[in-house]
Amino acid sequence: MQRKGILYVISAPSGAGKSTLCRELLDIFPELRHSVSFTTRKPRVGEVEGKDYFFVSREEFMQMVAEGGFAEWAEVHGNFYGTAIKTLRECCESGVDLILDIDCQGAAQLKEKQVDGVNIFILPPSFRELRHRLEGRNTDSPEVIARRIENAVAEIRESRWYDYIVVNDVFSRAVEDLKSIVEAERCRVSVVLQTLPPEFRINE
Ligand code: ADP
Ligand code: 5GP
Repeated sequence: MQRKGILYVISAPSGAGKSTLCRELLDIFPELRHSVSFTTRKPRVGEVEGKDYFFVSREEFMQMVAEGGFAEWAEVHGNFYGTAIKTLRECCESGVDLILDIDCQGAAQLKEKQVDGVNIFILPPSFRELRHRLEGRNTDSPEVIARRIENAVAEIRESRWYDYIVVNDVFSRAVEDLKSIVEAERCRVSVVLQTLPPEFRINE
């Protein structure tokens, strides 16, 4: 019997290493899928429409908001981002486990709506290291980096209500932690019960 897909909701302050960790996780578990969000941000070099994001105008985004097309949406660092209800529904029904790389405002909205998900927060080992990583990535101006570090203070406070915190200090250790979480969540009674043959009569 097929079970419903699990939603792994992963948030982190910018620069903590979330994208790198998510890429690694998708390599380790090829059956996991990355939930493709809608965004009004312009594509970066190398980003592919429909794979990294669905890139839309502000008008198109607001039209989807008005039509109730998003399970959650938020403004992050000056752009809009949202997860389509359709994406979650399709994966849930077809038993595909999804990684939602979304910010903590979006994660809070899903929790508020009681959307079943595993909430994971990635922490950097320190603010000093966070700054070092943002600078080392070479993708943002000093002003943008300063704003991201400022935002990180409030974001990190949100980690309190998540299910798991993974400290991304030594990269391989953080990958192992995430791997353990994915595997443990697949063994939850509520998940396994969906796949057992009726002869066990556990549900009676
Ligand atoms: P995010 O997606 O959270 O904004 P990235 O995945 O882009 O962050 O990582 C930010 C930078 O930090 C990248 O240059 C990445 O290679 C580096 N990085 C990620 N994890 C680690 C780690 N454990 N130790 C050192 N550098 C790391
Ligand atoms: P980036 O522009 O670097 O790809 O993403 C910036 C931030 O937006 C990241 O923290 C990322 O997790 C968040 N984000 C990406 N997609 C979504 C989404 O669909 N909803 C929300 N709430 N945040 C998102």
